[in-house]
Amino acid sequence: MTVPPASVDVVVVGAGVAGLSAARALLDAGLSIAVVEAADRTGGRCVTDATIFDQPFDLGGSWLHSAAINPLARLAERPLDGGGAILHKAPWDWASVFTDGRRLSGAETADYRQYQQEMEAALQRAGADKADCPVDAVLPPSQWQRTARHWVAQMQGGDADVVSVRDVARYAEAPGDWLVQGGLGAWIGNLFFDIPVCLNCPVTRIDHTDEQTRVVTARGDIQCRQTVLTVSTGVLAAEHIMFDPPLSDAKIAAIRQLPMGLLNKVGLAFDPDWSDAGQGHRADYAVGDDQYCTIEFGAFGGNIATGFVAGRFADQLEAAGPSAATDFCLQAVEQLFGSAARQRIIRTFETAWRSNHHTRGSYSYARPGGADARSELAQPIGDRIFFAGEATMTDAYATVHGAYQSGRIAAGRIMALRGMAPRVQPPGV
Ligand SMILES: Cc1cc2nc3c(=O)[nH]c(=O)nc-3n(C[C@H](O)[C@H](O)[C@H](O)COP(=O)(O)OP(=O)(O)OC[C@H]3O[C@@H](n4cnc5c(N)ncnc54)[C@H](O)[C@@H]3O)c2cc1C
Repeated sequence: MTVPPASVDVVVVGAGVAGLSAARALLDAGLSIAVVEAADRTGGRCVTDATIFDQPFDLGGSWLHSAAINPLARLAERPLDGGGAILHKAPWDWASVFTDGRRLSGAETADYRQYQQEMEAALQRAGADKADCPVDAVLPPSQWQRTARHWVAQMQGGDADVVSVRDVARYAEAPGDWLVQGGLGAWIGNLFFDIPVCLNCPVTRIDHTDEQTRVVTARGDIQCRQTVLTVSTGVLAAEHIMFDPPLSDAKIAAIRQLPMGLLNKVGLAFDPDWSDAGQGHRADYAVGDDQYCTIEFGAFGGNIATGFVAGRFADQLEAAGPSAATDFCLQAVEQLFGSAARQRIIRTFETAWRSNHHTRGSYSYARPGGADARSELAQPIGDRIFFAGEATMTDAYATVHGAYQSGRIAAGRIMALRGMAPRVQPPGV
């Protein structure tokens, strides 16, 4: 679709996972919709690039987290000819953990695993407390505290001293972190291949002063009754979209409480003949307190390792220029596996999600005291504007399945409003 229709029942703003799942549910209910997307592609933060390396590489979301309770995992488990996927379900193990370039012994690694369990229990206890606080304040004192901080930054996108412990405790963790062969973004793309989307069509204004809402886009105005808004809190905070009447103070406060964190990926394609590459599934590397990355050697027997940098350090690297994160990860490879290993890396690529105009970061975290902002953000504006997207999900934020569920929730609210029964089972697309 190159030009959006002039008038529909519902406009869906954004064709990431939340927008696509909302669109599917609304179309299934028989409503007329327009999906408008600012970028030149669908998928948003869940996108697979097949051109960088000789294998697909997920630039954003790649794991089906909490697989036991993840509705997308149920869809991915279906037979291949029924829309399922080939999955890597083996548990991820820390085959090797390194600190300051030193490989930890098996006993030290086991000790760290024990610490992780204590940390999890401490986060849950603190999350139930009356007063919210930064995660950092409740990490049990230990030699592993620093490594735990780094882990928190990778999971939340924000550093442990700025992230709400209540928000972290509310996240619904369940067994299973699965990878999808061919890339999660590509599989999601297949799942929603038939949803018509108007690309290169940024929304700049939503005017709901009259009975009909007017959604102003770069390719013309659309009149509608309801709007599903799925853009990130980074885009909302940057006011790429103006509202008539303006957003309430409560909504603006909620957006401010949910800033975008940063996780960047560094793809490291290595010489397929490098036999030592299989020596660890995942390794942590840290220099001092603030500089760290994780390197993971990929599943499905591929020759791409992925480096991850997060939080303030990731922001510093992204600001420093296009190869700073790559250089740090290559330094890690050299320290972890020896100087010869670095020579085995034959191609690299790094993401820059902070500079991405359409997301302005990787995923949302809640500031201390801001955990309730997710449900505030999710509140519709009257019967007109329905918010969706990962940031609106109290128990599944920062995930692909959270985005998927949020789109279905927003669509369900619109259907309920219109007196339509939402399709409930199975959790289809
Ligand atoms: C590096 C990285 C790794 C991740 N890893 C995982 C993982 O392993 N597992 C997991 O579950 N999750 C992961 N995530 C998070 C997951 O990708 C996101 O939570 C999810 O994709 C967000 O989907 P969404 O639909 O809420 O938002 P988005 O994907 O951001 O969709 C919003 C859409 O709105 C569009 N848009 C923006 N402005 C406008 C406008 N003005 N007009 C119209 N359209 C607009 C955007 O272009 C975008 O397509 C990761 C994310 C990143 C960045």
